[in-house]
Amino acid sequence: MDFNGIKFVVVGAGFYGSVTAERIANNLGEKVVVLEKRDHIGGNSWSFFDQKTNIEIHKYGSHIFHTSNREVWDYINRFGKFNEYRHQVITIHNGKPYTMPINLLTINNFYGKNLKPWEVEAFLQGESAKEKVKNPSNLEEAIVGQIGYPLYKAFVRGYTMKQWQTDPVRLPAGIIQRLPVRYNYNTSYFSDLWEGIPEKGYGDIFRNMLDFENIEVRLGVDFFQVKDQIPDETCIIYTGPVDRFFNYKYGELCWRTLDFKEEVLDYSDYQGTAVVNYADEENPYIRTHEFRHYHPEIDYSGCDKTIVFHETSRFAKKDDLPYYPVGRDEDKKKLEKYQADAEKLNNVIFGGRLGEYRYYDMHHVIGLALKRWNYGTG
Ligand SMILES: Cc1cc2nc3c(=O)[nH]c(=O)nc-3n(C[C@H](O)[C@H](O)[C@H](O)COP(=O)(O)OP(=O)(O)OC[C@H]3O[C@@H](n4cnc5c(N)ncnc54)[C@H](O)[C@@H]3O)c2cc1C
Repeated sequence: MDFNGIKFVVVGAGFYGSVTAERIANNLGEKVVVLEKRDHIGGNSWSFFDQKTNIEIHKYGSHIFHTSNREVWDYINRFGKFNEYRHQVITIHNGKPYTMPINLLTINNFYGKNLKPWEVEAFLQGESAKEKVKNPSNLEEAIVGQIGYPLYKAFVRGYTMKQWQTDPVRLPAGIIQRLPVRYNYNTSYFSDLWEGIPEKGYGDIFRNMLDFENIEVRLGVDFFQVKDQIPDETCIIYTGPVDRFFNYKYGELCWRTLDFKEEVLDYSDYQGTAVVNYADEENPYIRTHEFRHYHPEIDYSGCDKTIVFHETSRFAKKDDLPYYPVGRDEDKKKLEKYQADAEKLNNVIFGGRLGEYRYYDMHHVIGLALKRWNYGTG
């Protein structure tokens, strides 16, 4: 493969790689080659419109853009207009729907009460005091100490068991600071300044981001197959898994992966909202995504079909797609070793969720890539 005259090679066309390529091309004015092993750009944020129904499918699960970072918002809006979708999540417990994250409506519906905002804190303290948790030694105790056992059991325990395949009593108390609980009827899932879904889909955003003369995207190319053909002086921005880069010499980092069961159903609306969570362990699904709800601006009145993804989670094997880093102590130790080796390489920059082994939202990786390539100077 020809890399003649190319100073920069970006590995991976997700948000970190695509923003980096755009900045190198338009800010530095340099030529850049993007290598992507999949047959599409966009990484895990990729989406496309189903031709029969005009429903936008988020291939790797629901992606809602949200940020309070003005720089990131202004930047991403250069590549496409966002709609006014506002995310809300319903969770089903014992066959009944509740709103998430836990808020006054959830609490009142669950306990059959009509608490006022100023009464919630004392009420939850009373619930948690029943359990007498002083110094929580695990996640279960930490959450029970905050909201009491009944809410924890209904909305946290089963979901966490399914998401992490680990009993919360075996998870450290410190993995979350505090469970987000709202003492009002605000049922919006996010509380950022800006939120939405690209009107023409994420695919369109990525195409616009990479459609510049100085950028050449090579799809279906695994970096490791062509690595030896890249001249030594080339700067490589690597957004693939960091352990793979070093051929797993300190061992594999542990990931959770997701499986999606797709269904096309004869309903104009199957579940009434984009995402429904299943809180109880008896239901094997974690959540169901119904994509037509992401575009309130599209007229679907002639469409009596809907597309849903039912999501389950499990530990990733080597060939599975990595979704969420598990981050056990042994992973942290391995990561430190990989990071030390990475720092010794002069011409390779590691970035993005796989390159850093870290969960990032889209706006985080965009912000990090912009920072690295001096957005604002060109
Ligand atoms: C289920 C789920 C839901 C999410 N929902 C949201 C959401 O609602 N809102 C939000 O802001 N964020 C969300 N995220 C986070 C979002 O997916 C990430 O922030 C984003 O994907 C990070 O982009 P990235 O470029 O770092 O990585 P990726 O998108 O994973 O891109 C990395 C790319 O590198 C390529 N690659 C890897 N190795 C090689 C190789 N050897 N050669 C060539 N190419 C290679 C991969 O194929 C991939 O395309 C969600 C994440 C998950 C798991």
